[in-house]
Amino acid sequence: MATPQILITGGAGYIGSHMVKTLLDAGFDVVTVDNLSGGFRDAVTGGEFVHGDISDVQFINDVLTQRRVSAVIHFASFIEVGESVTDPSKYYCNNLTNTLLLLDTMRSCGVNNFIFSSSAAVYGEPETVPIPEFHRKLPLSPYGRSKWMVEQILSDMNRAYDFKSVSLRYFNAAGAHPSGLLGERHEPETHLIPLVLRVASGAAPDVKVFGNDYDTPDGTCIRDYVHVVDLCQAHLLALESLLGGGDSAAFNLGNGNGFSVQEVIATAERVTGRTIPVIAAPRRAGDPARLVADSSLVRACLAWQPRYDRLDTIIEHAWSWAQKFHSAC
Ligand code: UDP
Repeated sequence: MATPQILITGGAGYIGSHMVKTLLDAGFDVVTVDNLSGGFRDAVTGGEFVHGDISDVQFINDVLTQRRVSAVIHFASFIEVGESVTDPSKYYCNNLTNTLLLLDTMRSCGVNNFIFSSSAAVYGEPETVPIPEFHRKLPLSPYGRSKWMVEQILSDMNRAYDFKSVSLRYFNAAGAHPSGLLGERHEPETHLIPLVLRVASGAAPDVKVFGNDYDTPDGTCIRDYVHVVDLCQAHLLALESLLGGGDSAAFNLGNGNGFSVQEVIATAERVTGRTIPVIAAPRRAGDPARLVADSSLVRACLAWQPRYDRLDTIIEHAWSWAQKFHSAC
């Protein structure tokens, strides 16, 4: 049998580029589509790269029909929660409308397996922690709503058509490839760990802590940081399940361990051996106090077993990448 070919949208981005490498290492044939609005061409370490936009139906149609694509892994979306509040149309146009166009183009080309980058943002302020998949969905931002709307569309499509999907709800993706080849590069950067490491590397003077009066032991927000390579491993397992005839599903992806902003900064100081000055800042709109995953479902259904589940390891890998990256700037 020919090697299955997998289309990765947004494969030049942070998680997408790690996914390209994971699939190539697992022996898949990969084609990346990216418009390079947020990604980097040099982050795509192999396979075929095609520059283009998922909103271009003819273009996606050509990519799918000129190859023998068996499944699509869809990362191409905007990710800034705050920006989604100030510019919701940008988020609904890309994360929702363009995703729907992609899904319809896939169906018309007979490509019926889809893996979707969803988010813990679909839950909103949790009623229980750790959060199970059946927890009520009340997203706090257009970003979270766009992800939840796509998940609901996927459920409807699964019921109506022979179209299978796995939605993966990421908690806080973090870390970098252990080889040092790939890492997190966002412009602008809004995520805690890269911003903290920017300070450790001398590229920024201090890091702001958004809110110290939350109902948590040290008053700062608690998050579940999950290594990007472990996330990609879960996508690989989901892909193998769909290609093997498995059912549609939605899974949380997190380690089940919560760390406060202060604990992340203290760990980064220990790992880097540098002092990280902090500035107290007001709460950031839309930030729940605690987001921690119950990921027992994906562990049971796909035998997912995170390999790099220690915060120290996640930060060590991110630090190796950050040192290289900031010295090259
Ligand atoms: N955060 C912070 N300072 C920053 C960036 C983030 O205090 O410069 C906090 C943020 O309020 C949240 C946590 O760090 O509580 C993780 O934020 P991040 O943006 O990394 O991920 P999110 O949880 O929004 O997906």
